Amino acid sequence: MPHHQTDTLWRRVERILPTVTKPGRYVGGELNQVVKPWDSVSTHVALVFPDIYDLGQSNLGMALLYDILNQRSDVAAERAFSPWTDMEAAIRSADLPLFSLENKRSLAEFDIVGVSLPYETVYTNFLNILDLGRIPLRSQDRTQAHPLVIAGGQAIFNPEPVAPFVDAFVIGEGEQVILEVVDCYQSWQTSGADREALLVQLAGISGVYIPSLYTVDYLPDGTIQGITAQHPAASLPVNKRIMAELPPAMTRFLVPNVEVAHERVSVEIMRGCTRGCRFCHAGMVNRPIRERPIEDILSSLRHGLDQTGYEEVSLLSLSSSDYSQIIPLIEGLRQLLSERQVNISLPSLRIESFSDELMDVLQSLSPGGGFTLAPEAGTERLRNIINKPLTDEELMETVRAVFRHGWKSLKLYFMIGHPGETLEDVEGIVTLSRAILQEERRAAGGRARLHVGVSTFIPKPHTPFQWAPFEDPAVIQQKLAILHDGLRGAKIKMTWNDPKASLLEAWLSRGDRRMAEVIFNAWRNGARFDAWSEHFNLDFWQKAFADASLDPDFYSKRERELDEILPWDHINTGVRKTVLLKDYEWSKAGKVRPDCRQTCYGCGILSTFGELRLAAPNGGWKCP
Ligand code: SF4
Repeated sequence: MPHHQTDTLWRRVERILPTVTKPGRYVGGELNQVVKPWDSVSTHVALVFPDIYDLGQSNLGMALLYDILNQRSDVAAERAFSPWTDMEAAIRSADLPLFSLENKRSLAEFDIVGVSLPYETVYTNFLNILDLGRIPLRSQDRTQAHPLVIAGGQAIFNPEPVAPFVDAFVIGEGEQVILEVVDCYQSWQTSGADREALLVQLAGISGVYIPSLYTVDYLPDGTIQGITAQHPAASLPVNKRIMAELPPAMTRFLVPNVEVAHERVSVEIMRGCTRGCRFCHAGMVNRPIRERPIEDILSSLRHGLDQTGYEEVSLLSLSSSDYSQIIPLIEGLRQLLSERQVNISLPSLRIESFSDELMDVLQSLSPGGGFTLAPEAGTERLRNIINKPLTDEELMETVRAVFRHGWKSLKLYFMIGHPGETLEDVEGIVTLSRAILQEERRAAGGRARLHVGVSTFIPKPHTPFQWAPFEDPAVIQQKLAILHDGLRGAKIKMTWNDPKASLLEAWLSRGDRRMAEVIFNAWRNGARFDAWSEHFNLDFWQKAFADASLDPDFYSKRERELDEILPWDHINTGVRKTVLLKDYEWSKAGKVRPDCRQTCYGCGILSTFGELRLAAPNGGWKCP
């Protein structure tokens, strides 16, 4: 678009901004944003987060890609987020396209549109963004004139439900792949070849999955007969991409103009987890464990605090207490913070294991902070089934230590609906929470706050529970009622998830390629912001299933046959299906699998990524 047209677009946007809430979401111009003159680079990448700015701007993955891409002089990476409903209505009625925050360009003007899909409930927002950006929703309808639409993120370890809408998926860690995708795009552009040739070339990059190069066939009962590669360049399976060591920490921290979800400097201290909780998607798909050296963590935090003026830092990982140098790290952090003489709070760390020493250093660093424990189930029996072995006595011991060390707030996370859960297990949550409350009275005299957070178990792809049924929402309601009744009158704050919203997640997370029609229908019916309780409407989805002639129960209620081809079987996370299956069988027998840092059980990571293991620096990987 010629420069004057961009001016016109922006001038028209400026006219509607005063009519919408939080116009700061749409203007850019933040401290440390990167704006390159449009014609000064050859490749324009729009990084899209399909939820509002306030959430997306706190997303570390997107910030990291923005930083990495903008370090290249030939690339400009710009940002776009979902407009809130009022802004959507305003730009639609003014007939304006969705635009990037930096150069205020319509998404259709970019070479590459990279979408982050961290959870399934943003899928309708994703379609909405393509529509608002004036990009055909389906890959097959895009031509040479349209951007290449790529997607990555935790949800797309099962890419199939959104496969028709995406040209290329990046499975796994995107920090290196994104640069290879740009290189590939540039050489394709100079070659003048057609779009099909671009997709075939991209298929050659490790970790890239081009759904249009595969076909899926179904059996009469609706299960999958086979997934077939239709081109020699399309590998089967598609291995996820990982890095031998964690990418360099961020160099530029952007400071938002409007209040965002997390106003703090975040650094990822470790990737992966080896505990093997059977319900945990992140713990299975992000293996192996790789730790970031302490010096890198501290220097990134120092940088971030200097650049932003934030007064809160956050250490990101799946279970921070498993970081092998956690005590020296906390000591280093304390020193860093005292140099700055600012009062810094550390948000609750999720602690899976603890020592008195760790409690001491944590408490001295963050005396007002909260402590979080995630027993996930109310009885020892069920904790063995989900592979979170922890006796009631061990748990109470931790709780006593938490109060002894002076914490004033304790959060407990539980999940209901686990495979094999009985009503006694749910009553166990009540018994345990009340016992913890008693302990608090003894140790802290009723001054500490107790919070019980209850979520619903959702069977996720690539986990040992991928075959398990999702609990009937009516039974979930019954279980929630047991908790409400049991905790009534106790000084415990309880929060819970809407079982209907969990049902949607259950449908989408184990969907096959036919689910795309349902997502499209739901979007057309008006579904937006499904992750937001005030916008989520199950009716849109039920109608969407009916219009696609698909049975929602097929996706949620059914226990999958053990020999069934699952929609995501062609995506290899490194953990073998046979290992997951054995774990599923063990769960039924209540048999526990110990943390593999003690004994490697050959999950498949080393056979898939053996070469990378050799290239990894000493001590970074926790696999043998
Ligand atoms: S290869 Fe061994 S140590 Fe590494 S994640 Fe798998 S089981 Fe654990």
